[in-house]
Amino acid sequence: MRIAITGTPGVGKTTVSKVLGEKLGIKVIDITEVVKDYKLYTEKDEDMDSYVIDFEKLENFINEIEKQEKDVILDGHVSHLLNPDYTIVLRCNPEIVKERLEKRGYKPKKVLENVQAEILDVCLCESKGRVYEIDTTNRDVEDIVNEIIEAIKHKKERKGIVNWIEDYFDYLTLEIK
Ligand code: ADP
Ligand code: MG
Repeated sequence: MRIAITGTPGVGKTTVSKVLGEKLGIKVIDITEVVKDYKLYTEKDEDMDSYVIDFEKLENFINEIEKQEKDVILDGHVSHLLNPDYTIVLRCNPEIVKERLEKRGYKPKKVLENVQAEILDVCLCESKGRVYEIDTTNRDVEDIVNEIIEAIKHKKERKGIVNWIEDYFDYLTLEIK
């Protein structure tokens, strides 16, 4: 089984994936890391300071790992696009996401684009098949992981649990050149 842990950068995917992987004894693939380390990209987007993923190469890379592993956890903001059997969409308050990405040293334009993506439910909207959405705001990692395990066990599906637009609409009107 392929489990995707997706969500806007900064929502806590890597933190949650590590604990989930340890608890379930499943290998975790950090998509951002392997794309960079194994050159699974077509080019670098200098403007956004990120890599343009070569999805064919990435799919082949994951297939190779799956020859050895029965289950894998895909940790990354595009993991929901990698034909997962189950997609967990992590959500987090946009202002917390903003703080975390600033702390990470992202350029203001990249911070804003990601905050806007969180407000607009981008990862959730792109997720297909079996999807379970969780609001991680002010919750312990252990607690989140336990909920994910329960969801997977009972094949739970859930979408549409947060509404950031109401409180954070103003961010959508901002623009950074
Ligand atoms: P992502 O992989 O989605 O970009 P990370 O897992 O790297 O996010 O988390 C971003 C930051 O937020 C890290 O500093 C991490 O320690 C913190 N963090 C993640 N999840 C939680 C949580 N549930 N509670 C408190 N801090 C968290
Ligand atoms: Mg991460």
